Amino acid sequence: MKQPSYPLEPTQQARAAVQQAIDTYIQTFLTQLPSLPAFVDSPAKGAGLLESPIAEHPMAVDEALALLKQEVDTPGINSASGGHLGYIPGGGLYYSALGDYLAAVTNKYAGIFFSAPGAVRMENQLLRWMAGLIGFPENAAGNLTSGGSIASLIALATARDAQKITSRQIPDAVVYTTAHAHHCLDKALRIAGLGECPVRHIAMDAQYRMQPEALDQAILQDQAAGLKPWLVIASAGTTDVGAVDPLTAIGRVAQTHGLWYHVDAAYGGFFALAPSGKPKLQGIELADSVVMDPHKGLFIPYGSGAVLIKDRQQTAETHHYLANYMQDALSAIEEASPADLSPELSKHFRGLRLWLPLKLHGVAAFREALEEKLELAQYAYGQLQQMPGFEVPVAPALSVVIFRYAPASGEIDANAFNQRLIKEVQADGRVFLSSTLLDGAFMLRMAILSFRTHRPTIDLALTILRQKVTELEKSWEA
Ligand SMILES: *Cc1c(COP(=O)(O)O)cnc(C)c1O
Repeated sequence: MKQPSYPLEPTQQARAAVQQAIDTYIQTFLTQLPSLPAFVDSPAKGAGLLESPIAEHPMAVDEALALLKQEVDTPGINSASGGHLGYIPGGGLYYSALGDYLAAVTNKYAGIFFSAPGAVRMENQLLRWMAGLIGFPENAAGNLTSGGSIASLIALATARDAQKITSRQIPDAVVYTTAHAHHCLDKALRIAGLGECPVRHIAMDAQYRMQPEALDQAILQDQAAGLKPWLVIASAGTTDVGAVDPLTAIGRVAQTHGLWYHVDAAYGGFFALAPSGKPKLQGIELADSVVMDPHKGLFIPYGSGAVLIKDRQQTAETHHYLANYMQDALSAIEEASPADLSPELSKHFRGLRLWLPLKLHGVAAFREALEEKLELAQYAYGQLQQMPGFEVPVAPALSVVIFRYAPASGEIDANAFNQRLIKEVQADGRVFLSSTLLDGAFMLRMAILSFRTHRPTIDLALTILRQKVTELEKSWEA
């Protein structure tokens, strides 16, 4: 009898052929990666993709991969490149991609313990490991999220309920942070219905760190005015300059006044693994909630954030639910289910993309790579200080170096010059740098966090900067 054929279930032979084509594509990409640009500003920006509509008929894998290469993998920032030194770079560990592959093939349902007890145990084990890194107790609650933004939303929604902020109180419920806090926290406040909370931007010191005395004063003033201070947000690694707020002193102020203490360690958190990073994060253990991004500091591909909440009960109260059709699932409560601690129900089995590389490489390899990033930042800082005309206002606390070029001629506007400089560096494309404004000054940023960034990458970036400055100064005068 002839076997029926189901087009959505390829034969082993068909699977092998497609897999072979994809593997060739991947191996070519990885082999060529060191010589690929870090940024491609193509005029079409992937628009060719739209000329190939989603259609009834199948496409050959080679044709699909050709489209992917030209329209998706080439234009824009090459986030897999070690030359990506802009914003906060990500990673893209290969074994993590294989973890995703495994997770997708078995399609374990990691939202609920009953349905995939091993998968949920794995995710909780990873979260307990992260809790240990930042000095949180074993029974802290946590969730592997898609990124730092959703992790922040979970943390702030939990904080709102723990502090019993009711709708009527919102206009008087004051939040304290600095002007350098990440914008995802504003977004999270708004989505959590807290957009009308007054937000106080506490003064920063010369290193762009929150001043705890100023925080204390602001809280006292607001209390005296009859307002309800309820939330302090500190940063462990700001996006602008990589500054770490004084976490211990801020924690004490928050505790004294009974405020929820949130630490945004999306960028900086995993430096707790590095011997010279750990002391910089001292005090993070005082937080009530912490966000850290494995797709930054653990070099995992995009789609991995984490939130940790010290008091398990508090986050369960914010996210719990009941539904008759879930009664089988809810009877098994040996391990907390991700669905009980986040807005998600069905979700990607994110644990495997973390577990596999941590298992196959071992934690020591991550520790070493993170320590290297801190050293590279100090190296870049030292070099930039010695480059004539370059200004480096603050020493890097972690792995972000901020600088600008001060043109020798007083005729040239420094902001305009640096704006042109970043454009030239980006157009060159061998490395990608980004920029920010610091007290009105246009600054360039070198953010070092890819596991593929090493000393030659930094030297290349510095060479490009020297070269572009010389060219620009010449053309400016002409
Ligand atoms: C990246 C980042 C975020 C946002 O995280 P996503 O993973 O991009 O959603 C928040 N805070 C800081 C300090 C960050 O660096």
